[in-house]
Amino acid sequence: VGTIQLIEHGTVICMDARRRILTDATIAVEGDRIVWIGPSNAVPGQYDQGSKIDARGSVIYPGFVNIHTHAALSLLRGIGDDLGTAPAYTPDVPQSAYLSPDDCYVFSLLGGIEALRFGTTCMVDMYVHEDSAARAFSELGLRAVVSEMVRDIDPFKVASGIYEFDQDRGEDLFARNIELIDTWHGACNGRITCRLGPHAPDSCSPQLLQRIRAEADKREIGMLVHLAQSKREVQEIWRRSGRTPVEYLHENGILGPDVIAGHCIYISDSDIALLARTKTHVAHLSGSNSKGGMMAPIKAMVDKGINVTLGTDNMAYDMIEVMRLAVCVARMLADDPVALKSADVLEMATVNGAEALGMAEEIGSIEVGKKADLVIVDYRRAHLAPVVDPIANLVHNGLGSDVVTVLIDGRVVVANGVVALVDECQVIAEAQDRAESLWKAID
Ligand SMILES: [Zn+2]
Repeated sequence: VGTIQLIEHGTVICMDARRRILTDATIAVEGDRIVWIGPSNAVPGQYDQGSKIDARGSVIYPGFVNIHTHAALSLLRGIGDDLGTAPAYTPDVPQSAYLSPDDCYVFSLLGGIEALRFGTTCMVDMYVHEDSAARAFSELGLRAVVSEMVRDIDPFKVASGIYEFDQDRGEDLFARNIELIDTWHGACNGRITCRLGPHAPDSCSPQLLQRIRAEADKREIGMLVHLAQSKREVQEIWRRSGRTPVEYLHENGILGPDVIAGHCIYISDSDIALLARTKTHVAHLSGSNSKGGMMAPIKAMVDKGINVTLGTDNMAYDMIEVMRLAVCVARMLADDPVALKSADVLEMATVNGAEALGMAEEIGSIEVGKKADLVIVDYRRAHLAPVVDPIANLVHNGLGSDVVTVLIDGRVVVANGVVALVDECQVIAEAQDRAESLWKAID
């Protein structure tokens, strides 16, 4: 029997099958699970002796599943946002190869702090030295799904547009991914799990992709991948194989219900049909895409029955911001002012993300028996009043900093808007020092 906590007098956005919204409701948490939800005036006696969180004036959401991140790339903040393309394809920035495990640890803490503070409870992250990220997320109390970024092109040359395979590099990164899985899969009471991470169609040879698929099947472990992220990738795959990136991944066995494909910007109707037929999940990265001037055809994918999820990608980790941008992007692309609604993007950020991870029984909604991953947003603020439709207020007007309390596995990991388990100021100072020397080193 775990400790009992009551979160009292809040509005609860359940995201259960009926999409119920409860007012003046109380949630009872025992250990890491939700054990009771109901009217605040009807709390059963056995739960009444627990510690109490007053959620009056607040709205309680299921924790956000941030489905595609590279937390360590908080290093490139500001500068990277104005460079247009993904860091891996950009010369003259501190590339992954310049980063030590300790650098990755500090910047994963920094990115993880922002994500957590702004309501992400499950971080799905891939990068180099991912062992450092796993350590950072576990210390913050985050739930996380991590993978090494595996590729066998020469990353220095690809930044300048030259594709040259290097089998040894692929072997090394593959071995590191396996080591990560052996070390972290199921760690911290199951809070940290692992995936395999074939980086992208253009950065992986057919041999490497097929090898990763075989390993994924053998271990029954899913994959994270980038897909149709840039025009350059589309051209390179066409040159290499006469296929689209979606077809290329399919031909090499990658697509399937155990795969979450990030971006999916440059895709045709037949690509969309293939993603739907293979039940591949799509990670919509509305923030990083729109900063690069790109729009993924999300509405078309939703209409074809694809499970679309939401992630922040790199440099900014605010799920409320990407929900809002997903609405904007869909409406601009469809030339339709109501193409996506706020409730649709909240689904992407919660239940759809849980579904994509195969964790729908555990997280993604507020229901009895599920993990207590909860986000409490204070609505007693001028930009959130009046509250008639709380979900619409959050998506259209909410700020990450409106999140005041976060629980993961029933543990309070953000209290009064401050990360509870790690010293934020110390991480910020250390990140500043390291960023200055890393940028200086590539001058
Ligand atoms: Zn990415």
